[in-house]
Amino acid sequence: MRLFEELQLELEGLKERGNLRRLSQIHHTGKTIEVNGREMLNLSSNDYLGLTCREDLREDFLEELAKEKHLFTSSSSRLLTGNFTVYERLEERLSRLFGTEAALVFNSGYHANSGILPAICTADTLVLADKLVHASIIDGIRLCNGKYVRYRHNDYMQLERLLEKHHGEYKHIIVVTESIFSMDGDEADLKQLVALKKRYDNVYLYVDEAHAFGVRGAKGLGVAEEYGCIEDIDFLVGTFGKALASMGAYIVCRQVVRDYLINRMRTLIFSTALPPVTMAWTDFLLQRLPSMTAEREQLQLLGCQLRQMIVATGVSCPSTSHIVPLIVGDSSEAINKAVQLQRHGFYALPVRPPTVPEGTSRIRFSLSAAFTSLELEPLKLYL
Ligand SMILES: *Cc1c(COP(=O)(O)O)cnc(C)c1O
Repeated sequence: MRLFEELQLELEGLKERGNLRRLSQIHHTGKTIEVNGREMLNLSSNDYLGLTCREDLREDFLEELAKEKHLFTSSSSRLLTGNFTVYERLEERLSRLFGTEAALVFNSGYHANSGILPAICTADTLVLADKLVHASIIDGIRLCNGKYVRYRHNDYMQLERLLEKHHGEYKHIIVVTESIFSMDGDEADLKQLVALKKRYDNVYLYVDEAHAFGVRGAKGLGVAEEYGCIEDIDFLVGTFGKALASMGAYIVCRQVVRDYLINRMRTLIFSTALPPVTMAWTDFLLQRLPSMTAEREQLQLLGCQLRQMIVATGVSCPSTSHIVPLIVGDSSEAINKAVQLQRHGFYALPVRPPTVPEGTSRIRFSLSAAFTSLELEPLKLYL
């Protein structure tokens, strides 16, 4: 069989199993979206603080932009001619905010996670990763020379056993987790992870705060800020494309880590840097992030409200955050539920295996501070 016929056949198989993915035509209308002519509250976006629909921010930024004249392309990797002062300004602001020696900005969270581990791991490194870490981390691990083991989700007893068993065999062990997990909306216990790592002198901690940056902590720096353990995390990563309503990612770290990544991280070295205008927008928002406490509080309130609505239906809910799953179990049931919700003006999507374990198909709600409690309330009629 010819290649393209094989591909076509595989797509047909996906369609039969109800797993074919398509790009849908969407009109964005602030906190609502319009799909197939129907306007719905967007419960599937990562715009957690509701910043994408803030005209005031856009207008202020454009005013600044008129003065600064940032370019719309960097035309090169940062290692050649693609480095601009606005990049360094942003990195200085990040390291000042986090109180770390250094910060380094990347094109996306995917670039960050698929590039950092391969750069720092050698054949003597063992990576221990939570079973539910993001695909970009898995891809990074796959590009590493060393070995890896995935421990059961948030099972620190198992992690402890693995550390005890292996810490003598490897030169370094890197424990990798997210802080808020994207499918269950539950959290890693960073305090406990820090305590575990401190028992060994060759264990390091890598935490991805993609869903927590902007949202948690007094200044919005994430769960590590909330629990006062920023300095105990060796590789603290977050992204700008979710709550911060921009594009890109960062690591806050020691100077030596930054210098090393600049020399060895392939996704940084061999990719055109983000446009300076995008960096300027990120920096503009980052300056305002610490004062966005009203948005963070609203998001927490909405999270509570939705979790209570779900628990009231008799279904248990693992979430402790603004990402809230309604676990229905069966894939076709999840699809039906999503169709029903959309019919009533709530744009939520089903998540099915292999993205989540077999038998735990769900509707994944992700909230935005732009919503009011009243707008969310009628959702309970359709859960
Ligand atoms: C979204 C996400 C990423 C990828 O970030 P992008 O900037 O969208 O590439 C990485 N890690 C986690 C945990 C994410 O949720």
